[in-house]
Amino acid sequence: MDTYQHILTSVDYSPHGRRVVEKARQLARIHQAQLSLLHVLDNIPMPQMPYGTVIPLDQPTDNVLLAAEKTQLIKLGKEGEIDHDHCWLVWGAPKNDITLFADNNGVDLIVVGSHGRHGIASLLGSTANAVLHHAHCDVLAVRLKD
Ligand code: AMP
Repeated sequence: MDTYQHILTSVDYSPHGRRVVEKARQLARIHQAQLSLLHVLDNIPMPQMPYGTVIPLDQPTDNVLLAAEKTQLIKLGKEGEIDHDHCWLVWGAPKNDITLFADNNGVDLIVVGSHGRHGIASLLGSTANAVLHHAHCDVLAVRLKD
C-alpha cells in the first residue's frame, strides 16, 4: 500500500469541522504523514491582497473579524494536535485555493467534509465538489450527517 506523506485537512468552521480534522488526524497517524490544517478566508474583504496570500497567525490585527478567524483556526489546530507551524490561513476562494495550496505544498491527500457552512443542500457540497474535480492528488470527503 502506498503511504501518504502530507495530508491536508481543510475546514470552514462548520459545527462538524472537528470530525473532519479527527479523521485526517487518524489517517496521518496511520501513515505517519505530515498533517496540515487550512482555512481559506473568503468572508472578510481584503482589499489589495492577492488571492493565495498567507495571513500570519501570530501577528496582531485591529480587525476584530480577522482576529476571530485566527482564534478559531488556532483552537481547531490545538484540538487536532496540529503543530502551529502547520496551521494555515489563506486569503482566497476556497474552490481554487484549497487545491492550489495542495499543489504548492506537496500534499498527497486532501480531507474535506461532504458539506459545510451552507448545509447539506446537495449530497456533496460545492466546495467539496470543486476540490474533487480540481485536485491533482487523492481527496477524501468525510460524510457529515446533519
Ligand atoms: P461546502 O462544499 O462549502 O459545503 O464545504 C464542504 C467542505 O469543504 C467543508 O466541510 C470543508 O472541509 C471544506 N471547505 C469549505 N469552505 C472552506 C473554506 N473556506 N476553507 C477551507 N475549507 C473549506
